[in-house]
Amino acid sequence: MHVLGDQELAVLARFCELAVPGSAAIGPVSYVERVLAGMPPAEEDAVHAAIGLVATCLDSADSLARIAHTEAFGLLRGLAVEAFYGDYAAPGHTGPTGHDVIDFAPPQARRLRKDWSFLDPAAGSPTASGRETAEVVVVGSGAGGGLIAADLGRRGHDVLLLEAGGLHPAEDRTRFELAARHQLWWPTRSTVPRTDDDEPVALLAGRCVGGTTVINTKVAMRAADFDVARFHAETGLLGRDGAVTPADLAPWYEKVERRLGVRERADWTPSVHTVRAGFAALGACLEPVRSYTDFTCSRCGSCTTGCPTNAGRDTLNTYLAPALGRGEIRLLADRTVTRVLMDTSATPRVTGVRYRNPDGSTGEVSAPVVVLAAGSLNTPQILLRSPDYVALDTPSTRLVGATLGLHPARLVYGLFDSPQDCHLAYPITAHCLTHQRDFVVEGTTIQEPVSFATGMVDALGRPLWGVELATVLRDYRYWTGLLVMANDENTGTVELDPAGRAVITKGFSVAERRRLDDALAFTADVLRAAGATRVVWSGLSTSHMQGTARMGDDPARSVVDLAGRAHGVDGLYVGDGSVLPASLSVNPSLTIMAMAAMIADGLAGALA
Ligand SMILES: Cc1cc2nc3c(=O)[nH]c(=O)nc-3n(C[C@H](O)[C@H](O)[C@H](O)COP(=O)(O)OP(=O)(O)OC[C@H]3O[C@@H](n4cnc5c(N)ncnc54)[C@H](O)[C@@H]3O)c2cc1C
Repeated sequence: MHVLGDQELAVLARFCELAVPGSAAIGPVSYVERVLAGMPPAEEDAVHAAIGLVATCLDSADSLARIAHTEAFGLLRGLAVEAFYGDYAAPGHTGPTGHDVIDFAPPQARRLRKDWSFLDPAAGSPTASGRETAEVVVVGSGAGGGLIAADLGRRGHDVLLLEAGGLHPAEDRTRFELAARHQLWWPTRSTVPRTDDDEPVALLAGRCVGGTTVINTKVAMRAADFDVARFHAETGLLGRDGAVTPADLAPWYEKVERRLGVRERADWTPSVHTVRAGFAALGACLEPVRSYTDFTCSRCGSCTTGCPTNAGRDTLNTYLAPALGRGEIRLLADRTVTRVLMDTSATPRVTGVRYRNPDGSTGEVSAPVVVLAAGSLNTPQILLRSPDYVALDTPSTRLVGATLGLHPARLVYGLFDSPQDCHLAYPITAHCLTHQRDFVVEGTTIQEPVSFATGMVDALGRPLWGVELATVLRDYRYWTGLLVMANDENTGTVELDPAGRAVITKGFSVAERRRLDDALAFTADVLRAAGATRVVWSGLSTSHMQGTARMGDDPARSVVDLAGRAHGVDGLYVGDGSVLPASLSVNPSLTIMAMAAMIADGLAGALA
């Protein structure tokens, strides 16, 4: 049965071929129809409206170019890119597919019979009792929540873990980008620019048991001394002897590093040696990274689609699986917590949480302790949707969501004369810290084909499409990528609009803009100095959201205290990246886990 009318089908087919040349052969409209069948009505309406708009501009690529800046164009371009570079083929298609055209054949994909059933509308899943009780309820199972739940369970506490995403252990994972985006990733969100000069930033995160640690690249960095110095400056955070110092955090870093098996990755592939010469030519230094991947890592390049071998240590295989296996914690996956429940008749105290089942029904958990660890974008939303918490209206509650740090990043790619095959390597074995006070560069890497094609922009920052896009993608194996992340000053916000929808805003300060410009110029120069014949880059994105419920000793400048306890609310804790007092100059997960270990230890003491 068709979801689109005949005229719409014809318009869409013509659009796909103009936006992604060569794609008509695989039948992209059949992909779009399957996606539409599972879409909420409002999103489906937007697709119908977009088809209506582009219908008037399909005479040629030139006439389509007139609307290439519109949201409607972007929406349809995204779907066309997914269909072709995601390797879809309509039933009955027998010729080459998108992956054949760009010669993308990673090890797992060769063994994979692609199962597209994830595109079908979700069936309702059984509901929980809807009236659970626990001593501690932990919300979110990522870097922070996964560790805290397992730690408290090990110590004998009655822990219930609620997670919005599904349970997808390593044996179920394949090198299949679109399935991973659907099953392991949040649908990509984006910041709203504050001014015309601000670029939107794509927000990347995981939604599954194990959270973003399941799809991250596992670089394990401690915060720099100057990062930690900013903690006290921003929120008055104290350590043992006054302002918090790296020595205060060191025991917690050591604890998680031991458990994660952090080790150095000096197993550089040829593409790293290629770019190393470029760094050297610019007087900069490329060094091996440390990461939480063990020696069984086969360097297959599957990190962002979920490690299929458990060589990548995520919170699922390292903390949660043993805890679940031993019966030390209970897990409810596919449950989205919507608000914190409180008793405000005397000293405000938490009494539990409300959650939504996949079929839309709701349930509640009664618990005297709630640990929010839903990530730096979602933890503040839960607090802002909790009327009793918002009604406290203290300096601390008013800060929730007001200080979002992004550590914005860009992928910069150089085209080389010989194949680089960056998709067949462990993506980040090297980094350059020479300019760490402004930006850090990591590599070498390439995104999977859909992400690579979706993110690519032209010199004016407009999404690439048409012949230009197809030309860049055709050389997929010849590009080497560097990821450059610039320091920021927590100038983003997470708020709710009057309808209760999240609005994530980011405006760049003059200093942040300068850093981003310098970061791009430096990285492009490195690639040219290394011999790249062409350099292209992506728009801005971030996978390092932080600081929306900051930890500090000054309640006027922070949301939680050193123990992770919300100022002024008994039993309410935050235990994820939201607590970082100031945006870091390095990848944040190790610091999030170190702070989570510290919070779990303090909480266990309080519960004893
Ligand atoms: C592609 C990518 C690569 C990365 N690479 C690195 C790296 O190499 N090194 C590094 O240090 N960092 C890396 N990161 C970042 C790092 O993984 C995150 O900073 C870290 O996982 C954040 O931890 P968290 O506990 O704050 O949130 P998350 O790990 O995101 O966990 C939050 C969990 O809460 C769940 N949740 C959200 N809302 C709700 C709700 N309402 N109810 C119930 N559950 C909810 C989510 O589904 C998720 O599972 C990367 C991130 C990405 C996206």
